[in-house]
Amino acid sequence: NAEKETLGFQAEVKQLLQLMIHSLYSNKEIFLRELISNASDAADKLRFEAINDDALYGNDHELKIKVSFDKDAKTITISDNGIGMNRDEVISHLGTIAKSGTKEFFSKLSGDQQQDAALIGQFGVGFYSGFIVAEKIVVNTRRAGAFAEQGVRWESRGEGDYSIEQIEKAGRGTEVVLHLREGEEELLSSWKLKSIIRKYSDHISLPIVMQKEEWDEEQKATVVKDELETVNQASALWARSKSDITEEQYNEFYKHVSHDFQEPLTYTHNRVEGRSEYTQLLYVPAHAPFDLWDRNKRGGIKLYVKRVFIMDDAEQLMPTYLRFIKGVIDSADLPLNVSREILQESRDVRVIREGSTKRVLGMLEEMANSEEQAGKDKYATFWKEFGQVLKEGVGEDTTNKDRIAKLLRFASTGTDSTEQTVSFADYVGRMKEGQDKIYYVTADNYQAAKNSPHLEIFRKKGVEVILMTDRVDEWMLSFFTEFEGKELVSVAKGGLDLGALEDEAEKKEHAETEAGYKELVESMKGALGEKAKDVRVTFRLTDSPACLVADENELSGNLLRMLKAAGQ
Ligand code: ADP
Ligand code: MG
Repeated sequence: NAEKETLGFQAEVKQLLQLMIHSLYSNKEIFLRELISNASDAADKLRFEAINDDALYGNDHELKIKVSFDKDAKTITISDNGIGMNRDEVISHLGTIAKSGTKEFFSKLSGDQQQDAALIGQFGVGFYSGFIVAEKIVVNTRRAGAFAEQGVRWESRGEGDYSIEQIEKAGRGTEVVLHLREGEEELLSSWKLKSIIRKYSDHISLPIVMQKEEWDEEQKATVVKDELETVNQASALWARSKSDITEEQYNEFYKHVSHDFQEPLTYTHNRVEGRSEYTQLLYVPAHAPFDLWDRNKRGGIKLYVKRVFIMDDAEQLMPTYLRFIKGVIDSADLPLNVSREILQESRDVRVIREGSTKRVLGMLEEMANSEEQAGKDKYATFWKEFGQVLKEGVGEDTTNKDRIAKLLRFASTGTDSTEQTVSFADYVGRMKEGQDKIYYVTADNYQAAKNSPHLEIFRKKGVEVILMTDRVDEWMLSFFTEFEGKELVSVAKGGLDLGALEDEAEKKEHAETEAGYKELVESMKGALGEKAKDVRVTFRLTDSPACLVADENELSGNLLRMLKAAGQ
C-alpha cells in the first residue's frame, strides 16, 4: 500500500500524549534519553537477529546512533542503523500501547498533574515523550533485510492521528525527526545536546556520534567540521570496572533497562568466575510495576551473551518471587543461539539463577540490616512495594527459606501500627520469660486481626502476637512451622497451650473451673449437635463471652473464608 494514509491513535495513546506533554514538561530533556534508548534497543535486536542471518548487516556493520540538529529548520534528528520497522510494526509500535499493565495504569490516573506525572514515569514514557518538545515528529524507517523502496514514513502532530506512507530510504534503521515547538530553540546547540547525552545516555554501549564542532581562530567562530565525534563512553556499562562507574551512571543505566523513570533503591554488580562465568548487574526498583500481579508477566532481566543482546525478560534467570528485579546478566558460557527452550533446561542457567538469587538476597539483607536510617527507610520502602511477592519465596525456594524468613516483616500487637516492621528476630528478642513459641493470628485485615477475641489472653499476659493480614499469608504459613527452633502457633487453633507462660496455680484453678462447668458444656454440645465439633471451657478470653476455634489440623476460619470467596 503505497498511498499516504491517515490513521487514528488508539484512545489510550491520545490520553497518554495529553498527560505527558502537560505533566512532564519540567523533565523535558528526557525525550533524548528515551529516543536514544530505543535506538540502542534497535541495534541490540539487529545484532541478535543477525546471529542467524549475517546478511542483515548488508555492507553496514558498524552499529551507531547519530544525533544531529538543524538550526534553520528547527529540527533534531536521532538516527540509528538498527533493526528498523516495517509498516505493520510502525502501526502497532507507534500507534498503540501494547504493554501489560496498561489497564491498571489508566485506572490509577487521578487528574492531579503531579501525581499523574509520577505514574507516567512508572509506566514508562518512551517514544511519545518526543512530543514534549516537538510539535511534529517524522519517523523514517526501513527494516533490516527490506529493499530501499520498502521504507515507511510515519508523521504526527501528537494529537488524534498520524499518517503513514511508503518511502524510499537509503540505509536500514530508523530516523526520528523532531520539529521543535516554539520556545525550544535552546536545544539546537551542540553543547546542549552533548551535555544531555553525557548526563543521561553515557552508559549506552553503542557510539552516539555528533558532528564535530571546533573553534576557528581565523573566523573567530565555532565551525562545523566534516567529521563525527563520539559523545559517550560507548562501552557496555556492566563490563566496565566498578570504580569507573559513577552512581549517576548506574542510575541512568537502570532507567534504560527498566524503562522506569525513578532511581532504583539499590543494585549489585559482580563478575562471577568459576563453574560458570557471567556478569550480573541487578537492581531493586523503588516501586512496584503496574503488572506485578499479572500472571503472564515475565521477569525483568535482559540476557546478553558476550555483550550480544539475546532477549528481554529472561524469566529463567530469576525465581518467580524475585520477578521485580531488573537488570542485565551477561554470560560467557551460553551459546549465542540460545532459545527460551534451551534456557529452561540449561545447567549453566541453573547455576546463574542460583548465584543471582543469592546475590539478590544478599542485597536485600544489606538493606534490611543497615545501621543507617537511609538504609532502614529503603528497606521499609522495599517491603511496602514487594514484601508480598517476597513471601512467595517461602514456598517457592526451599533452599533459601531461612534467609527469606529473616527478611519478612509483620504488623504485630507489639507496635500498634498497621506498618509491617517487625521481624521474627525482633519478636524473638521480645519474648516473655518462659515463652517458647511464636504466636500469630490471621485475618482479612488489620482491624479484624487487632480486635480478634483470640488475642485477649495474650494481651493480659503481655505476650506479643504477629498480625498476618496479607492474602499470601495463609499460603505462606503452610510452608512454615518454625523459626530458629521456635514453633509458629496460631492463636486461633486447637486447645491453646501456653506452656510455661501459665503457672501451676493457674493450671489448677483452670482444671477446677472446667470441672464446675461440665454439665453446662454437655448440654451445649447436645444443643449444637452437628454444628460444632466440640465445646470447651476457655481461658483465652477476658472480655468476649465465646469464640470459634479451628481444630489443630484443620484449615483456619480465615483460609476457609478465602477459599469460599475464590469459589472453591
Ligand atoms: P519501549 O521502548 O518501552 O518498548 P517506546 O514507546 O519507547 O516503548 O517504543 C515503542 C516501540 O517502538 C519499541 O518497543 C520498538 O518496537 C519501536 N521502536 C521505537 N523506536 C525504535 C527504533 N529507533 N527502531 C526500531 N524500533 C523502534
Ligand atoms: Mg523505549
